[in-house]
Amino acid sequence: MGVSENLVPWDFTRRSVRPHDVLVEIKYCGICHTDIHFVRNDFGMSAYPLVPGHEIVGVVTEVGDSVSKFKVGDTVGIGCLVDSCRECKNCKDELEQYCLNGATYTYSIPERHGDGITYGGYSDQIVCDEDFVLRIENNLTLAEVAPLLCAGITTYSPLRYWKISEGHKVGIVGLGGLGHMGVKLAAAMGAEVTMLSTSPSKKADADKLGAHKFVLTTDEAQVQSVQGYFDFIIDTISADHDYNFYISMLKTRGTMACVGLPNTPAQVPAANIIFHGRSLSGSLIGGIAETQEMLDFCSKHNITADIELINIKDINNAYERIEKNDVKYRFVIDMATLK
Ligand code: NAP
Ligand code: ZN
Ligand code: ZN
Repeated sequence: MGVSENLVPWDFTRRSVRPHDVLVEIKYCGICHTDIHFVRNDFGMSAYPLVPGHEIVGVVTEVGDSVSKFKVGDTVGIGCLVDSCRECKNCKDELEQYCLNGATYTYSIPERHGDGITYGGYSDQIVCDEDFVLRIENNLTLAEVAPLLCAGITTYSPLRYWKISEGHKVGIVGLGGLGHMGVKLAAAMGAEVTMLSTSPSKKADADKLGAHKFVLTTDEAQVQSVQGYFDFIIDTISADHDYNFYISMLKTRGTMACVGLPNTPAQVPAANIIFHGRSLSGSLIGGIAETQEMLDFCSKHNITADIELINIKDINNAYERIEKNDVKYRFVIDMATLK
């Protein structure tokens, strides 16, 4: 497929299982907005043919001779990373997502030890080095666990890095796949959580997800009520927007972590962060150990994603609905529909 085309069925063969690899039969795969950015080549780095999907859950069906962490029949997950150099400072510090020699993402990136590119989870099988495979406890509904592998870790990691806990006022901008996980996780960590949304119809859902407050960002009075209010904001917006609008909601020395990836540059006058000592930061998914920590946290606190399970034949319709902001709050492909 090319940049302007719809997704179509495509047959390909995975690499054969190497000594440290596991073969996973994929049961479910979430649809992240990043998949759409890649299909549309929004970042100018997509390699085609492109098989998206990095919120993968399934069952191990084969293990290489040297695999020690998994056995056939285990329920596992694979997120946005399938390899990294493992030798640089960041890899040694369990920050494989920031590998200084280039992390190997789950799709559209040259294979680390091969000649092809990586193909993601909209597929019935995947082969992955065991060090990049996650353990999944069986107490949660598996289809609802899939989105944790990207939307979950992408919001968990900045909340942990900035040590969010009881007493903190946290704003989550954008109630989509990432945003709804951000609300659930920040609330579970004890913070006072405010949903900052452009969609009045999402207020009731925000309450159900655990948000303590809801601010409709198109309502001037509501926006005024949270000026200088938050210790920490996570911005998940996928489209062009004004960062200054949200920065003004930070307390003195508050931080806004950007995780949404609009493809237009942010315009932030230095004065807007200087005068209250505010910080504008960014965060990319999370390392493998932290992803495991997040999955264990979700298992303990009974946290999963709110999903709409779809037939893979409806994939292009699902993309259109995400682009029209019509998803509550993550589409997940039932891979049994591929057969
Ligand atoms: P999503 O489900 O489409 O949610 C995005 C939300 O942003 C929407 O639900 C909407 O919330 C809000 N929004 C959309 N357009 C807007 C606009 N023009 N102005 C204001 N708000 C708008 O997407 P997602 O899967 O959560 O992904 C969000 C972004 O994060 C994408 O850009 C994705 O590529 C990126 N991402 C980054 C990482 C990372 O590691 N940093 C990981 C995964 C995804 P309301 O209706 O509530 O306003
Ligand atoms: Zn993602
Ligand atoms: Zn590295």
